[in-house]
Amino acid sequence: MSHEILKALGLSDVNSGTYLGNGEWSTDTSAGLIEVTNPSTGEVIAKVHGTSAGDYETIVKRAREAFETWRTTPAPVRGEAVRLCGEALRKYKDELGSLVSLENGKIKPEGDGEVQEMIDIADFAVGQSRMMYGLTMHSERPGHRMYEQWHPLGVVGIISAFNFPVAVWAWNAMLAAACGDICIWKPSPKTPLTAIATMKICNEALKAGGFPEIFYLFNDGDNALAKQFVDDKRIDLVSFTGSSAVGRQVGVRVAERMGRSLLELGGNNAMIVDETADLKLAIPAIAFGAVGTAGQRCTSTRRLIVHESIAEEVTEKLVKAYKQIESKIGDPTDPATLMGPLIDPASVERFTKALDTAKAAGGTVATGGEVLDRKGNFVTPAIVTGLPGDAEIVRTETFAPILYVIPYKDLDDAIALQNSVPQGLSSAFFTLNMRNAERFLSATGSDCGIANVNIGTSGAEIGGAFGGEKETGGGRESGSDAWRAYMRRQTNTINWSSELPLAQGIKFEI
Ligand code: NAD
Repeated sequence: MSHEILKALGLSDVNSGTYLGNGEWSTDTSAGLIEVTNPSTGEVIAKVHGTSAGDYETIVKRAREAFETWRTTPAPVRGEAVRLCGEALRKYKDELGSLVSLENGKIKPEGDGEVQEMIDIADFAVGQSRMMYGLTMHSERPGHRMYEQWHPLGVVGIISAFNFPVAVWAWNAMLAAACGDICIWKPSPKTPLTAIATMKICNEALKAGGFPEIFYLFNDGDNALAKQFVDDKRIDLVSFTGSSAVGRQVGVRVAERMGRSLLELGGNNAMIVDETADLKLAIPAIAFGAVGTAGQRCTSTRRLIVHESIAEEVTEKLVKAYKQIESKIGDPTDPATLMGPLIDPASVERFTKALDTAKAAGGTVATGGEVLDRKGNFVTPAIVTGLPGDAEIVRTETFAPILYVIPYKDLDDAIALQNSVPQGLSSAFFTLNMRNAERFLSATGSDCGIANVNIGTSGAEIGGAFGGEKETGGGRESGSDAWRAYMRRQTNTINWSSELPLAQGIKFEI
């Protein structure tokens, strides 16, 4: 079956991982091979040639040249290029969704959902291409006009994480393309096949539409070229999605060369459930948030802060729901499956280690926590009780399906606990109490970039700005006014009078 999916997307057993522009995939095989493993079976699906230093230079040079013309193409025409990409992704949604599922291990509906996000952001960016508004201001001087305009920024470097192997590229690339930028993509070495397939789909659509080369790709097994990329002054914006540990290094290095970075890093997302909550909504929201994508979403629910009067009931209901999920763990491409594997054996090890640490600190595993004795990286999702909210392991993002349940007495304490972790991505509150809900959303409430009421922490819509505070990096992508990160702002003052009045009334007689 994996062969059929690869073939449908123009991939084979061994693939070039380097798109050089001008319709050329590199034939340079000097940089070694990246083996892509099916996380459900441990078998190698296909291999990808890494990119050589020479090819990297060609890509950056061509990208800079391409920017010279792309920035002068009218924005609505650039929007048409994005529209064609969205249309092509629609055609390949089923195949690309299947490849996401095969390579990353998320279940097929989530794989398809990820491609749908790419289509949605393409639609959004088409509209945005006609709405890159600047403001006009009233000048303090007579006979003067002031306004601001937004110009294309340059070459955008996109470094993406394994867990959203294609959507994150699209969030960046569709907006950046509409903004007049050229994109160079460095995907995760764990998921290069979906990146190659995406590049083929979009670049063929651009070529058929008579558009120039705006999307480039390189692959890197050991992050040596990725580091060079981060340090490269020719890359005007580095948009990095990944762990806080790597993102911190990326942010510092880009700042050192006075470049721009957009950081989308780790989360340690909490849901608060108060005593008035509708548990018919809360229980499935918690289960989906904690177990969906096998707990490998940046927005996965990792902490459940629940009012002490219902903590036992909620835990029991969750344990019951988890037992049902346990019987539906398996091949992510099977429609009956609810939870697929973790991405690799190292993730399984981190999962078991985290549970050992939790137990050593006094926690109890209420359900799950097993490594399944079969091929692939399968575990049973775990619920841990009995740990205080400030335990080090609870404050750490373990990228796996572990949910810590922490009872609370007082809502202020619950909100303080939620905000007490280093990360600040997503948060949710289940309540039917209007005052409590507004308190949670107020300036003294959740400190996260995303705060939801009566829906879970994961599964954001592309229309809103996506990202978080503190060690989540502060970046915003996708909807709202996130497009501004991909442009440079210019303030213009025009004197149409016959005088030269200086600002602040200063006299400078000569
Ligand atoms: P990771 O940090 O290990 O890798 C991310 C990317 O960085 C990969 O492409 C990797 O090859 C590259 N990389 C690694 N070292 C590098 C270096 N020194 N210089 C430049 N690039 C380097 O993350 P991961 O395991 O792929 O993804 C999981 C993490 O990503 C989680 O922490 C998750 O929360 C986070 N994430 C955040 C968001 C968000 O929008 N906030 C979205 C998805 C994932």
